[in-house]
Amino acid sequence: MTIVKKIIVIGGGPAGMMAAIRAGQLHQQVVLLEKNAGLGKKLLLSGKGRCNLTNACSLEEFLARFSKNGQFLRDAFKKFFNQDLMNFFEERGLPVKVERQMRVFPVSDRSASVLEVLEKELIKNKVEIIFKAKIKNLSIVDNKVRGLYLAGDEFILADRIIIATGGISFAITGSTGDGFEFARKLGHAVTALAPGNREIVSEIGELLFTFFGISGPLVLTLSGKIVNWLNENKKVYAQIDLKPGLSKEQLNNRLLREFSANPRKNIKNVLKGLLPLRLVDVFLEIAKINPEIRVNQISRQAREGIVDLLKAFRLDIAGSLPLEEAMVTQGGVSLKEINPRTMESRKIKGLYFAGEMIDVDADTGGFNLQAAFSTGYLAGESAALS
Ligand SMILES: Cc1cc2nc3c(=O)[nH]c(=O)nc-3n(C[C@H](O)[C@H](O)[C@H](O)COP(=O)(O)OP(=O)(O)OC[C@H]3O[C@@H](n4cnc5c(N)ncnc54)[C@H](O)[C@@H]3O)c2cc1C
Repeated sequence: MTIVKKIIVIGGGPAGMMAAIRAGQLHQQVVLLEKNAGLGKKLLLSGKGRCNLTNACSLEEFLARFSKNGQFLRDAFKKFFNQDLMNFFEERGLPVKVERQMRVFPVSDRSASVLEVLEKELIKNKVEIIFKAKIKNLSIVDNKVRGLYLAGDEFILADRIIIATGGISFAITGSTGDGFEFARKLGHAVTALAPGNREIVSEIGELLFTFFGISGPLVLTLSGKIVNWLNENKKVYAQIDLKPGLSKEQLNNRLLREFSANPRKNIKNVLKGLLPLRLVDVFLEIAKINPEIRVNQISRQAREGIVDLLKAFRLDIAGSLPLEEAMVTQGGVSLKEINPRTMESRKIKGLYFAGEMIDVDADTGGFNLQAAFSTGYLAGESAALS
């Protein structure tokens, strides 16, 4: 006879939902506690509302996209990886598609449809969900999980607790760092938390000039590293090639052609053909060139200066946006204290961690969600079978 265990999962994001589903599939009695009135608020925002749920690249390529601790996930990925996740959704009526850079999205292009599948699966596996849950503290006796207290001192007895409360970015979605506090109180080390957002490892990408500085996919790609450097008080600057498709020589020839075809045109109007309109004035200010000057008055030296600046537009980086606005959190519960084969705490028996709250983070491209789903799956299965 198998003894049914009572498993509490804290946090109804991708990691917590998958943990609860897996433990439910293995016929355990599962309670999912979510502080919001609904599940998966961050999941709904993911991939600009389209949910880039995983990446179809190979395991080795996948692991390489994590900033430092990717190897920790090898066991979780062996258990439940990208193809398993795609099958999970397809078998439940949600086809997926692979887009550029192997990013996987639901064919529906709606993150809500991903959430719907997860919600249905929770119900199917008889997971009890308590919304607006207010957890006071976890009860641990002799280094073993016993249960937890909700506000109002209601006690829920549990054999296993899985903490999947997310990171501390986009707090509006419910990720306010509560899990880190629970973990710290229980004697777990939590490594320094920082905003992290590395994306495609590519030198060509989309970049946005905004009122606060630069942003966009390319910036997100590099910001994880940059934040580390800034934290080490290193000076960091971005050198942007505004015309990556043209060599310096080609660019110089193009300017020469335009200058001789329209010698009385001012430089501002010529540059409008090369740069986004609103960048032209800023560019000329930095280049220290009068925007109204006619191109036939521009010296060879000044023209070469323009070419140099187009190929290497330099911006000093003063800082990153606060953690609040980052996509993923760098740092988290120290990996030394979690067993990678089970996600169980090495300090407290019956306590498990999953998702963004553990100290792993990756480029965007579907890697973070897969890590959340995989660690959730492994934690749910280990909690059920251990
Ligand atoms: C704007 C944005 C877009 C993104 N797009 C992508 C993408 O396309 N692809 C990708 O791979 N990654 C993406 N990410 C990252 C990805 O969303 C996260 O890595 C992922 O959601 C982490 O899952 P999680 O379950 O660990 O945590 P979360 O999704 O943060 O879920 C944690 C849950 O725990 C709940 N909770 C917190 N504290 C408590 C408590 N005390 N009691 C009860 N419940 C609690 C929260 O309310 C929340 O529901 C994006 C992130 C952002 C912010």
